Amino acid sequence: MKILVTGGAGFIGSHLVDRLIEAGNSVISLDNLYTGRKVNNAHWLEHPNFKFIEHDVINPIDIEQVDQIYHLACPASPVHYQADPIKTAQTNFLGTFNVLELAKRCKARVLLASTSEVYGDPLIHPQTEDYWGNVNCTGIRSCYDEGKRISETLTFDYHRQFGVEVRVARIFNTHGVRMLENDGRVVSNFIVQALKGIPLTIYGDGSQTRSFCYVSDLVEGLIRLTNGNYIGPVNLGNPGEYTILQLAQTIQRLIDPTAELVFKPLPQDDPQRRQPDISRAKFHLGWEPTVPLEEGLAKTIAYFRDHLSVK
Ligand code: NAD
Ligand code: UDP
Repeated sequence: MKILVTGGAGFIGSHLVDRLIEAGNSVISLDNLYTGRKVNNAHWLEHPNFKFIEHDVINPIDIEQVDQIYHLACPASPVHYQADPIKTAQTNFLGTFNVLELAKRCKARVLLASTSEVYGDPLIHPQTEDYWGNVNCTGIRSCYDEGKRISETLTFDYHRQFGVEVRVARIFNTHGVRMLENDGRVVSNFIVQALKGIPLTIYGDGSQTRSFCYVSDLVEGLIRLTNGNYIGPVNLGNPGEYTILQLAQTIQRLIDPTAELVFKPLPQDDPQRRQPDISRAKFHLGWEPTVPLEEGLAKTIAYFRDHLSVK
């Protein structure tokens, strides 16, 4: 198949590109390199089945024909999506619109990489896909949370109005090899801090929870969802739930038991609890994560040990 991956030079996108090319597909990685890096695709540059296009999805996408589209283009770390919130909203609305227009023209199946953030600061726990969410539409996370919600809306409307074949994945916190050192999300922050011998920054009292999926598990879920019959939305994440303090202590133990923990103010609208109910993914995709937290962390730590700019 000929497959387009938007955001293909990013963290998750580049792993997806690897899997799709290894399976014999022809892949176009399209990215504006905002948080992505060409080096993430560098090992495919000479491959006949790979093409990189530097392009911003807020502009129409001029590609003749593709069979499938994985739409991942959007900064995912709060630090990066809040740096230019209006651009983030544009990326989500205009970007998803342009991708769906392309899908409609090519009669391609499109997977939207949505997020657990559509649940906001959830009032039910764990989160099932039929929960409509508790999102602040005027806060600092809204450009992303509401952006992904309108992306989902557009995606389902293209399906209803034009018969476009769509799939929607709601991705929960994912970590792994190729995260940026300055990504700003909690797993990479704690690992980089511990390796550099500086204090681990816990926001708030560390009692808020998250669930951390290793990237290889997540990519397997995205591929199964795209190639299966179930439209979604489908939660993809690891149901293991940890407080941020527990995560800090685990990384402290794995890297440097003497590492210091410091407490910083909790950002506005930071969700208190988050854990995916993955019954739907298990039932429809036969999918569940296989990499336990510490095994995944060990891989991410090994990667940062090799790639830190200043050790
Ligand atoms: P990432 O920031 O590493 O990747 C995003 C990629 O999209 C980058 O390569 C970036 O350069 C590119 N991009 C951003 N805006 C663009 C634009 N306007 N035009 C073209 N390219 C653009 O983040 P990631 O963690 O790999 O996330 C990938 C997708 O998965 C995102 O859509 C994100 O919302 C979603 N997601 C990720 C997580 C997670 O924990 N990693 C959780 C939920 C959802
Ligand atoms: N967090 C933290 N220290 C950091 C970065 C993040 O305590 O250096 C917290 C953050 O406040 C949130 C959780 O870790 O409660 C997950 O943050 P992240 O940015 O990784 O993802 P998201 O909030 O989007 O789930």
